[in-house]
Amino acid sequence: MFLKEEFSIFFEKAKCLNVEDELSLLRDRYHIPANNAKEKIYLCGNSLGLQPKTAEDYILKEIKQWATLGVEGHFEGQTNWFNFHAQFDKSIAELIGSKGSEIVVANALTVNLHLLFSTFYKPTNKRKKILVESPLFSSDYYALCSQVEHLGLCPEDTLIELRPRDEENCLLIEDILTTIESLGDELALVWFGAVNFYTGQFFDVESITAKAHQVGALAGFDLAHAIGNVPLALHNHKVDFATWCSYKYLNSGPGGISGLFVHENHADISPAFKGWWGVDEAERFKMNKKFAPMPGAKAWQLSNPPILCMAAHKAALDEFEKVDFADLRLKSIALTSLLIEGIDLISAHFPASQLKIITPRNANERGSQVSIFTGNEGETLFKYLHLHDIVADWREPNVIRISPVPMYNSFDEIGKVIHALYEFYNG
Ligand SMILES: *Cc1c(COP(=O)(O)O)cnc(C)c1O
Repeated sequence: MFLKEEFSIFFEKAKCLNVEDELSLLRDRYHIPANNAKEKIYLCGNSLGLQPKTAEDYILKEIKQWATLGVEGHFEGQTNWFNFHAQFDKSIAELIGSKGSEIVVANALTVNLHLLFSTFYKPTNKRKKILVESPLFSSDYYALCSQVEHLGLCPEDTLIELRPRDEENCLLIEDILTTIESLGDELALVWFGAVNFYTGQFFDVESITAKAHQVGALAGFDLAHAIGNVPLALHNHKVDFATWCSYKYLNSGPGGISGLFVHENHADISPAFKGWWGVDEAERFKMNKKFAPMPGAKAWQLSNPPILCMAAHKAALDEFEKVDFADLRLKSIALTSLLIEGIDLISAHFPASQLKIITPRNANERGSQVSIFTGNEGETLFKYLHLHDIVADWREPNVIRISPVPMYNSFDEIGKVIHALYEFYNG
């Protein structure tokens, strides 16, 4: 049958891409969740990345050091916990395009949001507005609102959520730039997710930052969905500050350690809220009253860090060191392009399915995520996928997010997802 033929050409294409995939062996470096020994199709790396097989050994090494050395593990032993954070400088700096001195691996994402906002949001009578993308992730919203309220201001007067035009699902860059321009000297801060959690839109970090600076505002970015997913150049793009989590595309495990970036242009700015781990290493244990900061972003550390968490982080980042990020990005684009092509086929043959892709079709404007508006059958479809061991993610009111990660997902898996959709709609 004609319909079937188009689908078989598609499935054949998925198979070919699979055979040609030069990164396919990376998959074996991760634990793939399974059901009765059959590997699931895991497409949820935007929520919790899979476990590198080396993570257990990395954590065990620290557990053993703790057992054998106790407190002396801070300065002795193979890894030396006191300097544990320093080993992340190179790999994180490469991922976000920064200098090692501009970053620190520390705290949790929402904690870092508070640290950054309390330091960099300095409203005046005239300049107090904050521009954010809509929808903004809930935790970012709560953090911003509470910071504003803590200063005695009203979120209704200060927080501006830029919504897509009526007929659009994503924001147009010209609308972002003209909004910044029209806010002018009332704008204190632009805060965007570099990749939006809901639509998967990858924003033009460079243009947004440049425009914010042009009107005298600062530009900060939440990299939760961007780090390890899309190419970034924070230093060159003169981004003022940023933070991220490590458990999504970085695969560092549930509740994994966060990190933050402060551009060296702000190296003289001390964090508004401090802790003893931000004190210069040579002075830290003297416990002086005076806060003598670590140079650069390292001054933003608060507490002595969670080593077991950071051991998993190290295992995960070592995997990134083994590959060229540009190759990962190419595969990511090929995976999402194939997925979009397959969904378009489903939509063309089953118009009643009402499926609608809300992620940008321009590959440069998206990461490894495709978000799909589902029709009335959305929840039934999501359950159907779940029943067929396809792990995706559901966002109210009716969006399915599918995130094929180049490290461990295959083109074959995209073929299987489209096959499952075909069977679902074919009845
Ligand atoms: C995942 C995510 C968070 C989660 O914050 P945690 O403090 O790590 O729980 C916050 N903001 C954005 C944009 C996210 O995508």
